[in-house]
Amino acid sequence: MKNFIAGSWVDKANKLEVRNPFDNSIIDTVPRADAADVETALAFAERGAKVMAKLTGYERWKILRKAADMMAERNEEIGQIISREEGKIIAEGRGEASRAVETIMGSAEEAKRLHGETVPLDGDPGGKNKLGFTLRVPCGVVAAIAPFNFPLNLVCHKVGPALAAGNTVILKPASDTPLSGIKLVEILLEAGLPPEGIQVLTGSGGEIGDPLVADKRVRKISFTGSVEIGERICRMAGIKKVTMELGSNCPLIVMPDADLDKVAAAVAMTGFANAGQVCISTQRVLASGKVYGDFLNVLKPKVEALSTGNQLEEKTKVGPMVKEAEAMRVEAWVNEAVSQGARLLAGGGRCGAIYAPAVIADAKPQMRVCREELFGPAVTVTPFADIDEAIALANDSTFGLGAGIFTENVEWAMKFARQCEAGNLHINWGPQWRADLMPYGGLKNSGYGKEGPSYAVQEMTELKMVVFHLNS
Ligand code: NAP
Repeated sequence: MKNFIAGSWVDKANKLEVRNPFDNSIIDTVPRADAADVETALAFAERGAKVMAKLTGYERWKILRKAADMMAERNEEIGQIISREEGKIIAEGRGEASRAVETIMGSAEEAKRLHGETVPLDGDPGGKNKLGFTLRVPCGVVAAIAPFNFPLNLVCHKVGPALAAGNTVILKPASDTPLSGIKLVEILLEAGLPPEGIQVLTGSGGEIGDPLVADKRVRKISFTGSVEIGERICRMAGIKKVTMELGSNCPLIVMPDADLDKVAAAVAMTGFANAGQVCISTQRVLASGKVYGDFLNVLKPKVEALSTGNQLEEKTKVGPMVKEAEAMRVEAWVNEAVSQGARLLAGGGRCGAIYAPAVIADAKPQMRVCREELFGPAVTVTPFADIDEAIALANDSTFGLGAGIFTENVEWAMKFARQCEAGNLHINWGPQWRADLMPYGGLKNSGYGKEGPSYAVQEMTELKMVVFHLNS
């Protein structure tokens, strides 16, 4: 596929290969953009911002609405692209394609709803005969930088609200998974988006990231990815608006009154979907000592039943990780935990990029599999004595994106909701659940700013205050 820069589809001799992680076959190639391409895109985007700012809310709604309809019609084609480039099973590829429709549809609705508000200036001692209101205006040029694990829906969470708010966008998809993001750009243009509204650059983030994020013409950066890259972008960005959606090592607390069958089913789903490569994957299960042994007995067969294989075959439940190096990393971390005294209760074998879903029992909080973001198909299980220790263990992390608790006790549930340091809290489900319309974002090192169209459009706009100084 090609890049879309300065209103044209462009190719380059220098290319990146996009591979299917299951068999390492080349699916396609994309241009390897460089700093000169970034400069071309930025110069064009400055003009593009003026074109986009002139579109009415109705016009922006119409474009996004049409794009959503077109995406829905092409669900199977898009689902296949996602699954092939990322490695997620085809059901999840189709699911992501459907969610992306909702994200663009929700963004379309926001294009009609953006508004300022009147400000009661006469409440100020000097406010007599003043009339004040706010206006929301687009930021201008938005740089949207996306990770590999939801290569379409997370792109839509940036591009949708940015366009709804009247910005122009420079999209930088992840190098491992650029194809579905480029497909979105094709669809948006076909749906009537002015060519000034969007550009897409593929290429190594290490090469084109700095010149893009440091440039003063970019007024807003929306980044989803690792803490390491997020911190670098924040240092480089200078004075501009930034949203950071970063990683985590999400905890799930299992209280003694929990229905263990339900918990085990939830762990099998929320710990291993997309081969565990989800920022809100259940990573650290904290189970009450009163039910610890029983819980492990129920969990083991549920995880062992997750068959691995070719992500495009309907029967596969867990596909390959995005690349073999990632599966090797997970294997090394699990082996390290076992060498430090943890017990491998299930899974753990590796074949290429496929790592068999693993349960690491008796994990200690100081082990790397607990401390860092594992981002792979393995969960740890650690016992606790009471709710206070459970919450302390859950909060013993530099991250704070999502967390869950299983209990029928309202007091415990509320204590968890109040005291657990995470942006998204789930009672009687694992941390991995998201409706695309809800405010979504982390605390602590998991970032700042919220996604979800109605929240993201606020972050994609600036607020102006207007004051009329009247005579009477
Ligand atoms: P990553 O390595 O941080 O890369 C994310 C994006 O940043 C890619 O497009 C990457 O390009 C680009 N990039 C790399 N270096 C850059 C630089 N110096 N300047 C600007 N951009 C640069 O993350 P990933 O491995 O793709 O994704 C996994 C991470 O994303 C995990 O930590 C996960 O938790 C997090 N995540 C968070 C959320 C959330 O909503 N909080 C959702 C999903 C994922 P290249 O691909 O070319 O390197």
